[in-house]
Amino acid sequence: MQKALHPFTNKLISYKEYKEFSLTNNYTTLNVTPKTTCPVCHNDLNARAGQKQDNGHFAHQTNDVCPTKEPAARPYLGLTEFPVDATIVNANKDFTKNNIEAIFSEISNIAIYLDLKEFISILKEAKRLNIYKYVNLVPEYIPYVLVTLINFLPKNSYQKKRNLKFMFFYENHIQNFEDLWINNGINSKLYRISYDGSTTKKVTLIPTNTIYLTSITRTLSQKQKEWCIKEL
Ligand SMILES: [Zn+2]
Repeated sequence: MQKALHPFTNKLISYKEYKEFSLTNNYTTLNVTPKTTCPVCHNDLNARAGQKQDNGHFAHQTNDVCPTKEPAARPYLGLTEFPVDATIVNANKDFTKNNIEAIFSEISNIAIYLDLKEFISILKEAKRLNIYKYVNLVPEYIPYVLVTLINFLPKNSYQKKRNLKFMFFYENHIQNFEDLWINNGINSKLYRISYDGSTTKKVTLIPTNTIYLTSITRTLSQKQKEWCIKEL
């Protein structure tokens, strides 16, 4: 990946910034410099010089287990069974219904070239997993749960315009969606990983907020809204 967590802080840094860190702190080589870590699994990453100038990157060690290497193993998709409270399910679904356009717009902002059909497949997956049942779910953060449910493939994007594959992950200590909202989402960092084929290219920290509810950047027609709502 092209960015990794700084050895001592929570900042995502590039290979170039890591080299600067090494130099500033008087390490002779990158080998003896404290390692950067993966934002998702927090394992140490190896710095790899690029073949060309400026395409250095970071790589997991071969035996590390990390959901970014095995996207199917996203831990929070493992669901625990507990009694479903219909009031909560309805409140979360009502929120989604009433803000369907804002949610579509926000997901478009963080997964660019979102196609309406991709959005529909997210809603179908949400229904299948019944993510609306989570008691600690803060409705305003629903878009940031929804994005983790599918892989955003270039071939499914709007007019096939997306070049890279996107997947969204929470840090690996999140074992269940329930854990996400214990601190109202504030301590749960959401990352977007971009892949070129199966090579991790880029890691981006995605800010989670509620501004999207009032600043809609992509609209849906009445018919499109109805189509989405049918899938809840
Ligand atoms: Zn990792």
